Amino acid sequence: MSHENHTLGGEQSGTRILVLGGGYAGVLAAVRVARRTRRRGGRVTLVNPSDRFVERLRLHQLSTGQQLADHRLPDLLAGTGVAFMRGLAVGLDRTARTVDVDTQDGRRQLGYDILVYALGSVTDTDAVPGAADHAYTLAGPAAARLAGRLTELAAAAGRVAVVGAGLTGVESAAEIAETFPGLGVTLLSRDEPGPMMGDAARAYLNRGLDRLGVEVRSGADVTKVLPAGVEVAGDPEPVAADAVVWTIGVRALPLAEQAGLAVDAQGRILVDEALRSESDPAVYAVGDAAAVRQPWGMIHGTCQSGIPTAAHAADSIGRRLRGRRPKPFRFGYIHQPVSLGRRDAVIQFTHADDSPRRWYLKGRAAVRYKELVSGSPPAFFRLSRWFNVPILMLVPGRGPRWLRRGR
Ligand SMILES: Cc1cc2nc3c(=O)[nH]c(=O)nc-3n(C[C@H](O)[C@H](O)[C@H](O)COP(=O)(O)OP(=O)(O)OC[C@H]3O[C@@H](n4cnc5c(N)ncnc54)[C@H](O)[C@@H]3O)c2cc1C
Repeated sequence: MSHENHTLGGEQSGTRILVLGGGYAGVLAAVRVARRTRRRGGRVTLVNPSDRFVERLRLHQLSTGQQLADHRLPDLLAGTGVAFMRGLAVGLDRTARTVDVDTQDGRRQLGYDILVYALGSVTDTDAVPGAADHAYTLAGPAAARLAGRLTELAAAAGRVAVVGAGLTGVESAAEIAETFPGLGVTLLSRDEPGPMMGDAARAYLNRGLDRLGVEVRSGADVTKVLPAGVEVAGDPEPVAADAVVWTIGVRALPLAEQAGLAVDAQGRILVDEALRSESDPAVYAVGDAAAVRQPWGMIHGTCQSGIPTAAHAADSIGRRLRGRRPKPFRFGYIHQPVSLGRRDAVIQFTHADDSPRRWYLKGRAAVRYKELVSGSPPAFFRLSRWFNVPILMLVPGRGPRWLRRGR
């Protein structure tokens, strides 16, 4: 193993800031903290297993075989002062302040003064027996495998069961039904689709699913995934399916817990108001990997909340290096955007705690809005060095407090 006390350049001065994970939160934290700390000698390294930026917001599109833009992390980071290392973080030693990273050239050890933990989350396939073995998730290579399987099944008029009618499940079922109209798509869930939406938006969402031919089975408690279907509590016969898509539950990766950091039941790092680990002041956590408490309750993992956490952690680190006290993180949700295939969508606007407001958008206007907030990663990350999520400035009404121009 090669040991590196400092980041990639091996210089001996400055604060070493190591960002683990190159998703939405990690990239934003890296480019912004580089900007915030450059005059104080901040040296920022971002570690991610692939040199491609995965637009997780669009995984339901990828899993139906749609071609997405190819964004490479080194290009996104060009000119930001952030060094990129392609590798998988496999161990964290908080006493020595080092991270073991598996790279194509073997294991390397990176030292840090400040660690930004942005490893995201994965779909929890351990929730019921058989899900890990027989179901597809939308993550990484599984999305491409699912796309291949759906194409095969479309030719044979097969059946697909999507489990979970949260926003990911709804978007997946709609996308599959629109892309492969010959497939029979069933959406199974305990709750009805869009449970957090207001009545009008939920009714629109249900009409959209109906128009696309998605069969909705609410009140279905899936207890087991089989090679050719799912078992539902109380049903004597399994629901037959040629492919099962699992979208329920998220959990964080085990690295933080293994390193002895205080985590919640989902493995997310418990953080204070500056987004610093409650158990280790050298560690900040952002995005889906952080358990963030707000006056109205706990944040649940979305890009909408993850991006502000990344911006705030970067600003907190900048203030710390300048000897200033961090500001408390304050966040409120503004919307629940849901695509219904490529030609329809519904956006429920929300109160800070994600409960529905009265107004919502539907149809083409909602499609345009959804595309706007899903954004173009290169422009978004460039602007995020100076601004807090600029796209949200277009949203009318009272914005959250973090929505203001950066220094
Ligand atoms: C289909 C779908 C649609 C969605 N739509 C929306 C939406 O409309 N609005 C919204 O707000 N949210 C949406 N979300 C949720 C949103 O995508 C996530 O909340 C967001 O991606 C979290 O960002 P993150 O940076 O924390 O994690 P991620 O985007 O998951 O990034 C984590 C990164 O860490 C890397 N990594 C993992 N392990 C390691 C390791 N050991 N070492 C180094 N790197 C590692 C991963 O490769 C990845 O690049 C959607 C999610 C899905 C699946």
